[in-house]
Amino acid sequence: MSNFEPVIGLEIHVQLKTQSKLFCASPNLGSDPKAEGGLTPNINICEICTGQPGTLPRLNEEALRKTIMVGLALNCEIAQITKFDRKNYFYPDLPKGYQISQYDMPINGRGFLKVGERTIGITRAHLEEDAGKLLHELPGSDPSANGGLRRSDPGHDPKMSYVDFNRAGVPLLEIVTEPDFRSPQEAGEFLRKLRSLVRYIDASDADMEKGHLRVDANVSVRPAGQKELPNYKVEIKNVNSFKAVEAALTYEIARQIEALEKGDLLHHETRGYVEASKSTVVQRSKEEAHDYRYFPEPDLPPLAISDGFVEELRVSMPELPQDKLARFIKEYGLNEADLWPIVEDKNMAHYFENAVSELQAWCEAENIGEEPYRKSLKSLVNWLTGDFLAMLNRDGKTPRQTLVTPENFAELIKLVEQGKISNTAGKAVLSEMYATGEDPSNIMDRLNLGQVSDTGEIELAVLKVLSENSDLVEKYRAGKTTVMAALVGQVMKEMQGKANPTVVNELLRQKLS
Ligand code: ADP
Ligand code: MG
Repeated sequence: MSNFEPVIGLEIHVQLKTQSKLFCASPNLGSDPKAEGGLTPNINICEICTGQPGTLPRLNEEALRKTIMVGLALNCEIAQITKFDRKNYFYPDLPKGYQISQYDMPINGRGFLKVGERTIGITRAHLEEDAGKLLHELPGSDPSANGGLRRSDPGHDPKMSYVDFNRAGVPLLEIVTEPDFRSPQEAGEFLRKLRSLVRYIDASDADMEKGHLRVDANVSVRPAGQKELPNYKVEIKNVNSFKAVEAALTYEIARQIEALEKGDLLHHETRGYVEASKSTVVQRSKEEAHDYRYFPEPDLPPLAISDGFVEELRVSMPELPQDKLARFIKEYGLNEADLWPIVEDKNMAHYFENAVSELQAWCEAENIGEEPYRKSLKSLVNWLTGDFLAMLNRDGKTPRQTLVTPENFAELIKLVEQGKISNTAGKAVLSEMYATGEDPSNIMDRLNLGQVSDTGEIELAVLKVLSENSDLVEKYRAGKTTVMAALVGQVMKEMQGKANPTVVNELLRQKLS
């Protein structure tokens, strides 16, 4: 498959987090966890979002602000004049028979986002309203995924389809990228960056499993070196995790290359991703050109966006993930691979900075040098993104929602870095901190987990082990230095596992030389 190159472009719908829907006062419950799954169908609707005759839409300013903020973060040209258009089609979940969207004058025009060394072009990012949801209860399906509708509910016929308009009119930001990705991994990395960014701005919860972030992936392949885009593309739908996006693209690229190698012609089609087989299947082929008969929405006047308005939003922007990453790299001397897992989540980044200032204060107070300080930062990153992150993910918590304070976390790092406890003991201390909120030094004492670094005590054990293992000592002196591991093991056993391994190694080497 070496002489073909994939071409990938993404279309992403981000559900915006606003108080109310895009064109009416009905609450936007899309991001309310209490509302998820269990909300009774058709209770969060009004005459506007259900398209009753004689009603008029009115644009939600909060949605406009968040749209522009995402546009700024994606380096987009912000329109000075924008307008809304009607996209006409008939489907039972679309109450008005058209969707209010944007056609030729989107709020956000061309932009870009950097992914590693590559720059991915943004074609546009426009604002539109969501449609409702059709409920068909399939045998064996999870009723909670059906808006709470159950086959057994009185008055519900399992052979019927129902429509729930709770989601109709919820604001969506549609982001379209240029076909600039050259691998599934690049697309995945972009999506992680984008998710982080919209969460920083608080534009969306961007939880893919909950449908806050929906991705359609377009992919084609071309002979390596060809400049022109292939004259077909396959659009993949129904991917609901980042892993699924990468898996679907990987499958599809291999399938297309195989087809081309056989001499088949590929053409436009829409395929659905099947999680169980990690493959894609045709949904619609030979797509007729859609005719949405777009025309300007007569009930919403074109909108002028003043420079002052954009400027106000620009200054209100928080530090963005890419800027924070650059600052952390500079200030803490660690690399992107180390720091991105911290920066990706703004809560974790904030917690990290608090723990760092504790470590900094400690290093200054005890006059600890630059290198051990950097080492302690690296250790902090590893501990935060290792066991701690796993606990947070398991319990769906942010660092601040746990009993572990950044001060105590920094204290734990000190104990490990000073060799007062081993790594293994540190893990035990951390889970105890997580469970009780207790101070790590207390836990260490209470559970008797302290590590012995006292050279006098370790030296006694070393001498004992050397005298009892003269065969190993001889081998070592004859050049078989691999027996060192066995000697270290013996000393550790002698010290009930609590000797500082660095000190043990050092003393053994001294005595053996
Ligand atoms: P359409 O007219 O079908 O909507 P667009 O040109 O608007 O197509 O592109 C839709 C999406 O498909 C964009 O994300 C774009 O980057 C991507 N795309 C366009 N051409 C290709 C191609 N040859 N291969 C892969 N993706 C493509
Ligand atoms: Mg298009």
